[in-house]
Amino acid sequence: MSDCLFCKIANATIPAKIVYRDETVLAFEDINPQAPTHLLIIPREHIATLNNLTDDNQHLVGHMAATGAKLAKEKDHAEDGYRLVMNCNADAGQTVFHIHMHLLAGRQMDWPPG
Ligand code: 5GP
Ligand code: ZN
Repeated sequence: MSDCLFCKIANATIPAKIVYRDETVLAFEDINPQAPTHLLIIPREHIATLNNLTDDNQHLVGHMAATGAKLAKEKDHAEDGYRLVMNCNADAGQTVFHIHMHLLAGRQMDWPPG
């Protein structure tokens, strides 16, 4: 999608600190980190929100979660813990309308979230 920020990162039109990529997903550092480790994992395919998942694309979310778990392990957060978060629409605070999973780690997290 031509006017989507994360599509532009996926096709390298705008730069990002990319830490992982494969055929279907990529992961990069959040520009405004909320924890010592704050990565965003996105599908290459443009999907605006979790409400737009279909039978054909829902497998991508499992792959995003598995990628987050793999990156957390590589960064030595697996034992202490980490959080994988997806925000959907206004009440959850979604600001970029291309689905993404936040990997947050490296500090104690509060629950419930704000
Ligand atoms: P949301 O609030 O939609 O769940 O998360 C969007 C995230 O994208 C935010 O954490 C924000 O800091 C991050 N973000 C916004 N613009 C950019 C950008 O241009 N580059 C990177 N790397 N992250 C961005
Ligand atoms: Zn997009």
